[in-house]
Amino acid sequence: MLTNDQLGKWDRESFFHPSTHLGQFARGEAPQRIVTGGEGVYITDRDGNRLLDGFAGLYCVNVGYGRQEIAEAIAAQARELSYYHAYAGHGSEASITLAKMVMDRAPDHMARVYFGLGGSDANETNIKLVWYYNNILGRPEKKKIISRWRGYHGSGLMTGSLTGLELFHKKFDLPLAQVIHTEAPYYFRRPDTAMTEADFTAHCVAELEALIESEGPETIAAFIGEPVLGTGGIVPPPEGYWPAIQAVLDKHDILLIADEVVTGFGRLGSMFGSDHYGIKPDLITSAKGLTSAYAPLSATIVGQRMWDVLMQGTDEYGVLGHGWTYSAHPIGAAAGIANLKLIDELGLVQNAADTGAYLAQTMRDALGAHANVGEVRGEGMLCAVELVADRDSRRFFDASEGKGAKVVAAMLERGVIARAMPQGDILGFAPPLCLTRAEADEIVSVTADAVEAVL
Ligand code: PLP
Repeated sequence: MLTNDQLGKWDRESFFHPSTHLGQFARGEAPQRIVTGGEGVYITDRDGNRLLDGFAGLYCVNVGYGRQEIAEAIAAQARELSYYHAYAGHGSEASITLAKMVMDRAPDHMARVYFGLGGSDANETNIKLVWYYNNILGRPEKKKIISRWRGYHGSGLMTGSLTGLELFHKKFDLPLAQVIHTEAPYYFRRPDTAMTEADFTAHCVAELEALIESEGPETIAAFIGEPVLGTGGIVPPPEGYWPAIQAVLDKHDILLIADEVVTGFGRLGSMFGSDHYGIKPDLITSAKGLTSAYAPLSATIVGQRMWDVLMQGTDEYGVLGHGWTYSAHPIGAAAGIANLKLIDELGLVQNAADTGAYLAQTMRDALGAHANVGEVRGEGMLCAVELVADRDSRRFFDASEGKGAKVVAAMLERGVIARAMPQGDILGFAPPLCLTRAEADEIVSVTADAVEAVL
């Protein structure tokens, strides 16, 4: 077996890690963690730590670690049929079965599911489908996509453009020209504290309408948004936001893409965020919770009105030229089937609602009155603690102080993983959906201790 030193050296010398400060990592100035195993909500590492994973990896290990049912399903699929492609009507029992299971769970007006590998490629697929749709309908000028500041939709050329976080644009020549951003529905950071939630919703909707009018509705193809802003700070929308946004989009014949990569398959305590907020998207992007990250797989779920036009398109122009080698990979599909069964059998959607509400309430009880906590917010199994320098004036800490990152580091020393969200001093929590109340208590007490120690 390799020593930790040997492995650590290879890591620093060979491995280009995603979303990492490359220089600090290569020079040994940034931390390194070599993860060895996982069971339930805990992971273990080579240094002998056992950590409660309060972020389920990257909000994706929804059923928890070490589920033998999924491991067995993957192994059985690899033995029987490791791969066959899905082009031109090919498939496998696993991919067809998973398609049926996804459609059984999707909102009623959805028509078909397209499988890819991860959230970014699924959103790339979505934008191509939106452009194709408008070309088939004979309106080639209707191509711009509206996204929100603080939205996260991936790291590709188009998806990185849709993402509304500076970190993912900086020095990459993004965003691309077809993408425009509108205001984030972030009530805590509303421009005027006198605004009620309803006022702020009206303000966001007015901003969107003004943008549509100034660009010209005939140039706008789609609006993309996460039901609850995730990487941008874990921010549930203000009251009435989604139905009001949908009404504006309908008025201007603009498609709605619900990016449910985080919220899909139960995280909000509903199967999809679209059901949760009563919206009818034309496209739903999903990935993480589809397989609980036991294998890479994404699902783009296509609504009926788009599907009809896609069919018309191939009748007129032939094969729809869009596919990945690994679309509907049988091993991913086998993982997805076993994962969705487990979610049902263990009642994890309901647990996300119940234990998620308990986590947010316990966090509020512990930290809601702290002088440096501006807000504790949550929805389903998502929770955030927003740190402030001054509570009354909502003055934020200077970014260079890195307060959020320091609290997260102090939490790690105490055995709990949270995520310092990339913009603002926000502690993010997205534990596996199987979290128990005792584990929620552990997260909260460690967070409170760490906040006390750092602030
Ligand atoms: N969309 C949302 C809402 C996400 O949170 C993410 C990833 O965190 C993505 C898209 C991109 O998914 P992936 O990292 O699998 O490409």
